[in-house]
Amino acid sequence: MTLKKLSQFGLIAFAILAGSNAYGQKVVKGYPIAERLNGYKKISLKTDTSLLSLAERRCLVHLIKAAKKADDIFWKQTFMDKESALKNIKNDTIRRFMEINYGPWDRLNDEKPFLSGYGEKPKGAKFYPANFDVNMVDEHTKVRVLSPYTVLQEMPKFDKQHPPAPPKPPKKGEEPDMLMMIERMPMKNGREIGVMDYGFAYRKDLQELMNHMNLAADAIEAEDKFFARFLKERSAALTSGEYIMSDIKWMGLKSHLDIVIGPIENYEDKLLGVKTSYEAYVLVRDMEWGKKLDKFIALLPELQANIPVEAAYKPVLANDTGVNKFDEHGNLMSNTGEMINEPNFPPMQKPDASMSQLAVFDAVYYGGDCNSGSKTIAVNLPNDETLQKYFGTRRSQLKNTMKAKFDEMVMPISKILVDPTQQANIKFDAFFSNVMFHEVAHGLGVKNLVSDQSKTVREALGATYSAIEECKADVLGLYMVTQLFQKGELTGSLDDYYVTFVASVFRSVRFGAASAHGKANMITFNTLLNSGCIVSGNKGYTINVSAMKLVIEKLAAELLHLQGDGDIAGVNKMLADRGVIKPSLASDLAKLSKAKIPFDIVFDQGIETLGLLDYDDSVKKTEKVDKKTK
Ligand SMILES: [Zn+2]
Repeated sequence: MTLKKLSQFGLIAFAILAGSNAYGQKVVKGYPIAERLNGYKKISLKTDTSLLSLAERRCLVHLIKAAKKADDIFWKQTFMDKESALKNIKNDTIRRFMEINYGPWDRLNDEKPFLSGYGEKPKGAKFYPANFDVNMVDEHTKVRVLSPYTVLQEMPKFDKQHPPAPPKPPKKGEEPDMLMMIERMPMKNGREIGVMDYGFAYRKDLQELMNHMNLAADAIEAEDKFFARFLKERSAALTSGEYIMSDIKWMGLKSHLDIVIGPIENYEDKLLGVKTSYEAYVLVRDMEWGKKLDKFIALLPELQANIPVEAAYKPVLANDTGVNKFDEHGNLMSNTGEMINEPNFPPMQKPDASMSQLAVFDAVYYGGDCNSGSKTIAVNLPNDETLQKYFGTRRSQLKNTMKAKFDEMVMPISKILVDPTQQANIKFDAFFSNVMFHEVAHGLGVKNLVSDQSKTVREALGATYSAIEECKADVLGLYMVTQLFQKGELTGSLDDYYVTFVASVFRSVRFGAASAHGKANMITFNTLLNSGCIVSGNKGYTINVSAMKLVIEKLAAELLHLQGDGDIAGVNKMLADRGVIKPSLASDLAKLSKAKIPFDIVFDQGIETLGLLDYDDSVKKTEKVDKKTK
């Protein structure tokens, strides 16, 4: 084999990670980039740092640096290496718009390309080779191909007469040849597919990311050993690909600081809906607000019991009903006394307390997937269905960004689209509760098909899963709010929750059909409109709350059935009929753009924004600073 050949293969392998360098910088003719950019309102992500100890401030600096590396990895997963993508772009507007979109496709405008020469965004982003068809691999290969944590690349065809020699083992201190680390698997067309674990594919970024996670752990060790242990375990999980134990530890945390980091959501994989993208949230817990929510945890079993479907569609959730029991060896026992021991499920460790949490945070840094497209204001994790079944989930409300979206969008949108007689019903507390119960609703309903427990709803619905799940969470969340209101657990007027909900639907349909949240809100909007419980008039929409209550209950049941039955034909029909923007809505949305109401927020964020430069070891560190803040 010639040296040329080897380097050729090396390049191909590299292309998986970096993408091609040959890209255009010319704006698609007539694409209103400046106008689109103005649609984003910039918000500073801050928190009251005076509430943080010295150790917490130091820890926070490293958490933010780790989160930045997660952001770098996301660039590679969705488009190409960030530096290469931006280095030749001199125009600030184009550059900033690229940054917001993580590439040349406008995420909040159905992924339309805004730079010429790219065409449609590949459905499989950089997770799969171009034109990949999963039916080209056999059942055995499929297991690795469909892993949420592998990257695929079609391998170069070898000349059978002159196969290349195996690459030489690396010299001391050198990287092994990439080809040695790529698992080659056969395809039915005679070609081969190369499969790489994330831990290997992104190893350089991960090394730095892990370094900062470990430094963050060292900084906080003396004050909060549980958080420090979690940070170390999570960091190790990112290369081993074994996330479960660190997920369990994370669920039990009640620390002041927090981080969500790793390959988590599958929104970016629009081909098969399985690949996870890197993201990171750095969070500071709001202890005061959190306390207010504790009472709702106790109500979760009752809420699950009351969702509007037959018993088979609402199985008892172990943790939410408090039936988790552990034997003396730390094994998880079911409420009927047998040990729950599933394949690939590690021995349980006893949690310190109930693991379901409703928590409130200030978000101080967003990186990767959660910072792309519409910004997340609440998050329900972990996504692992088995973990959810046994431990419940943590629903985290990101109060500072939620407030920003409410002030900058929900309020001004309602001024234009909601009839003046109902505008007084638009309230932040109602918005907060609706968003919170959206997250609670993610945890309810079924995870596996009613007729076939071995198959998850996610598997059955594939790429349509996310939109249906988001829609379910919206409407089931509002259904629960109604129940709680009737029980006297929520204050204000019920109209506040419904009118604020509708105002928020207008906000979210603007995310477009390429976004699961955008589609979900189109389904809700069209259902409400078709059933006459929202009516468009001269001065905006009027909401008939009592009619809407019934429609929301019916829609929740419809979605829960589609999920429990894994009814992909029904889902496709729903998306085709109701997951679209019709002309009347389009003209309403145009009014919002004309009034220059932002369609989303972007962040001014980081160590400097938080005023923590003095705690960054890599910038400066003086005795004086330490004394001042002790
Ligand atoms: Zn959601």
